[in-house]
Formats: sequence, structure tokens, C-alpha cells
Amino acid sequence: MTRRAAVTREPATVFKVDGGRRYFTKKAAFNAAARIAINKRCECERGDGNRYSGFTCSYHENPERYMKIVRRLARLIECREVAP
Ligand SMILES: [Zn+2]
Repeated sequence: MTRRAAVTREPATVFKVDGGRRYFTKKAAFNAAARIAINKRCECERGDGNRYSGFTCSYHENPERYMKIVRRLARLIECREVAP
């Protein structure tokens, strides 16, 4: 017979972005803030799910470049947040 998994409750610090979703790590929160900032400037043409991927703007067309932009912007936002 296997022992039942223990479910416990514990308080945790969470990070919120614009009072919305909650993130357990500061890094995840700043990455989310960066994605939100990029999406505000996104000019992707919405694809039809078949011929087009839908990711056509300069931010989203290249996934590797997009990840670099997210990481770089997340660092910039984090620096700005902690500045006096
Ligand atoms: Zn886009």
C-alpha cells in the first residue's frame, strides 16, 4: 500500500505584474513584464492557422531573437524598478 501524498499549506512571496498574474520568481515576473511591453508594440498579422504562423512582426518573426529581446528588456525593466 502506498502512502497518500501530503498536501500542506505555506505562505509564499509572489510577484505580480500590473496587479494581474502572479509569479513565484522575480525573474519570471520581469520576463512577463517584458513580454507585455513587447506585445504592446507587436504588429503581427494574425495568421489563419494554416499558411501563416501569425508571427510576422520584427519582434516575433524569429523565436531566438524574440527570447533575446525578452531577456534584455527584462533586465532593463528590473534595473529601472530598483533604481531610486
Ligand atoms: Zn508580433
